[in-house]
Amino acid sequence: MASSALAFMLSRAVLPSTGDAVLIIESSEGDIHEESTRWLRFLAAAGKSPNTVRAYGLRLAPYLSWSVASGRDWRQVRLTDLVEWKTAVVATPCSGAKGGPRPRKAGTVDAWMTAVVEFYKWAEAAAVVEPALSGLIYESRYIAAGVYGGEQGRVRQVKVPELQARRNEETPAPEWIESAQARAALLDLELAARDRFLVDLLFFTGLRIGEALALFRQDLHFLGENSGLGCRIRGPHIHVRSNEVLNGARAKTGHRWVPVPDRVVFSYEDYLLERRDILGIDANPHVFVNLYRSSRGASMSYAGVVDLFHRISKSVSTRVRPHMLRHTRATMWLRGIDTPRLDLDTVRVLLGHASLEATSIYAHSRAEDLRAAVGNASLPGTGDENGR
Ligand SMILES: [Zn+2]
Repeated sequence: MASSALAFMLSRAVLPSTGDAVLIIESSEGDIHEESTRWLRFLAAAGKSPNTVRAYGLRLAPYLSWSVASGRDWRQVRLTDLVEWKTAVVATPCSGAKGGPRPRKAGTVDAWMTAVVEFYKWAEAAAVVEPALSGLIYESRYIAAGVYGGEQGRVRQVKVPELQARRNEETPAPEWIESAQARAALLDLELAARDRFLVDLLFFTGLRIGEALALFRQDLHFLGENSGLGCRIRGPHIHVRSNEVLNGARAKTGHRWVPVPDRVVFSYEDYLLERRDILGIDANPHVFVNLYRSSRGASMSYAGVVDLFHRISKSVSTRVRPHMLRHTRATMWLRGIDTPRLDLDTVRVLLGHASLEATSIYAHSRAEDLRAAVGNASLPGTGDENGR
């Protein structure tokens, strides 16, 4: 038989025993593709809606056809095969209802890849393929307790980043404070103690503004030795976790800790004195509270932050937004500016990114930077020497 002619498609069949209509995947020669058909039945039995089962089938069948056509055995899949399949999906325009063919949207490409990865997850669990795919084409991700994680939090298995559609192709490079003078001006700026501490904290830790506003005083372990606080981590650091939220801010997911330099410890001490002067002993567990205007003692809101950064921008004559401090810190870590250079994975952990892909936007800007720095000079390895 000519393998190029063999294609798979989703069809409907009627079970003779019950008369029920079921979805099957069959070849152009009329043979049922056993494993994928079992998978569709499994999905239906697991409570997936008929529409979902149909959509999965419609997206898996072309993959099986492509595997055969490109001389692959779908049972022996490797990550690179699936990345190639993704490229094929991206490259195949869909015929739009109106107008001509148009490129697939990232969300559509994602849905196509999800169908295939879900199929392999099942195939692995059903011992249809070798149990070697876990971690290779999908990985476990912890979803913290909350809206998506339920009461206990849960572990979800998601496609590895290589198999996810790239949504950030048109995303502009992260905006950071590139000028050393502007950074120095920001750090020298005369501010009230609380504001000084907030800026220092964001600048030196790269925290998201929402995470900073959600910090509790008990999350700040600013001693050299923190065992008295029940913490084994040595040196000043903060814990970033989801606290009960009082001010509309929320820390994203999970828990991480971030070391802080002495400067941040000192500005926190200044802020504590100021807070004590204005509020006396107050019970608000939040680190950031209102001190200067109405509703003194209430947790600081995002609106208050916007206000502050508006004033800061005027003072340093350049527009500074809270998130720019995060971009700036990430860039400084990766490039080793005023700090030892850190690798991508360390920066990922410090920033609290779930995947390397999010962190790699900063690596990309570093690559641009290197290219610019190299300019027209000859590249290493292009001369007489063989060194690398
Ligand atoms: Zn600690």
